[in-house]
Amino acid sequence: MNLILLGPPGAGKGTQAELLVERFKTPHISTGDIFRAAIKEGTPLGTEAKRYMDSGQLVPDEVVIGIVNERLLKSDCKNGFLLDGFPRTVPQADALDRFLQSNGRKIDAVINIEVESAVLLKRLTGRRVCRNCAAVYHIESKPAKNTGICDHCGGEVYQRDDDAPATVSKRLEVYAAQTEPLISYYRQKGILHSFDGIKPIKEVFEKVCQALGAIPQ
Ligand code: AMP
Repeated sequence: MNLILLGPPGAGKGTQAELLVERFKTPHISTGDIFRAAIKEGTPLGTEAKRYMDSGQLVPDEVVIGIVNERLLKSDCKNGFLLDGFPRTVPQADALDRFLQSNGRKIDAVINIEVESAVLLKRLTGRRVCRNCAAVYHIESKPAKNTGICDHCGGEVYQRDDDAPATVSKRLEVYAAQTEPLISYYRQKGILHSFDGIKPIKEVFEKVCQALGAIPQ
């Protein structure tokens, strides 16, 4: 199945993606992860992306679209993929549609995770991530057993630059202005499935799986 995970920053897209990938064995394409890897490697893409990410802005459409198209052409995406954090603008969604159509493919379902802003703010500013394996923690609801050290791999657990409070507010503003319109975009296409992201992780996941199970292949 060709899937998109949609939702504001902090809605739990990454967490649901991990569970979906485990269950459906589908490649997970997170544009945020691609940019963070490029920053870590110090590539020109990383340098360009960091400028936008650190200020809570979106990386320009043409840069993101090119990267995703290239990734979708890889053989592991032949039987399905899970896009996480892409598309984030209507031009990105249009470009994705055109690209898939030209390859005889389409998006089967869009999983939209809804969470109110006050909760997102708390989740994001308290979020901590492992620099090595990207495991996600929260200072209140899921702290690492030893502060600053990843439970899984012993890597450094840190706060993403873009999870600093001022940047989080900007990211939520950008989401409302540029990404939220995709909800009606995909609703009109009849492939939008919305879920309450305040519910426990496992409950959201089971509801997502039920909805996906009902989609004809
Ligand atoms: P994420 O990890 O998905 O929250 O993404 C972190 C940051 O990467 C975003 O705040 C953007 O600056 C950038 N980014 C990720 N995906 C996209 C996208 N599809 N379009 C533009 N910028 C993106």
